Amino acid sequence: MTLGDVTVTRVREYYGPVDMTPETFFPESTPRTWEEHSSWLEPHFVDPGTRIVNSAIQTWLLRSEGRIIVVDTGVGNHKERPYAPVWSRLDTGFLDNLAAAGVRPEDVDVVVNTHLHVDHVGWNTFLDGRSWVPTFPNATYLIAKADFDFWNPANEHRSVLGRGNQNVFEDSVAPVHEAGLTTLWEGSYTIDANLRLDLAPGHTPGSSVLTLASGTDRAVFVGDLLHNPVQIVEPDANSCFCEDPAGARATRRRILGWAADHRALVFPAHLGGAGAAEVARAGNGFAVKDWAPFADISEDAR
Ligand SMILES: [Zn+2]
Repeated sequence: MTLGDVTVTRVREYYGPVDMTPETFFPESTPRTWEEHSSWLEPHFVDPGTRIVNSAIQTWLLRSEGRIIVVDTGVGNHKERPYAPVWSRLDTGFLDNLAAAGVRPEDVDVVVNTHLHVDHVGWNTFLDGRSWVPTFPNATYLIAKADFDFWNPANEHRSVLGRGNQNVFEDSVAPVHEAGLTTLWEGSYTIDANLRLDLAPGHTPGSSVLTLASGTDRAVFVGDLLHNPVQIVEPDANSCFCEDPAGARATRRRILGWAADHRALVFPAHLGGAGAAEVARAGNGFAVKDWAPFADISEDAR
């Protein structure tokens, strides 16, 4: 789709079950909310038969001012994830899907990692022989310094993930940093006249959102500010992966409120179905006003 002078393309890595029930994934969500909204939450966002949450792993590919920007890089292939088995040793056709969108790895100018969880940095690197090397050799990788420092094993920070992010920094972040490709930013970072990054901490200390403002069009790429649209209607329901629960709730309400007030499309990292939504204020929370014009990802067989 086109927003002002920017085109947005969805590139799929994975869509399907993620081994968690709504109660496990979103411990604070209420069964009543899932029931009340089942007509549109099922089957795109939760499987009605198994009661397992469905999620997408996808990259948002932006073309802006003649440059190619990828927002989040998924899980990656052949990664060893002993404490996140659902993401271990994948072998997907992500790079073929990227090629189908007209992009070779060497064409990418900017990589945005909204945060440094396992499912947002994987394609930063690929396995070349026995070494992890940058997938996008000509790109600048934009990483919030707060997340870089939090996940750097040298700093020994404790995470709610326990060992869930084991190996991730070493195989997907350190190699691009050592290759001199990273820009570690603080506060906010202007990519070009259409795109700006801002810190949005809570899910992780350096979680960030990418705001698109071009002409009269607005959008915000929010990473894991929300994983599932149940968090639009129940914005105080965190995922079990949020490092700072109170901060995550406050940031979610702030960004969704801004999006509702500015008619900005909200692009989370993991929504199945249409992948992005326009939201409106509704009671003490928000509602989905309209879906983005992307095809249902479950019908994309690749
Ligand atoms: Zn994620």
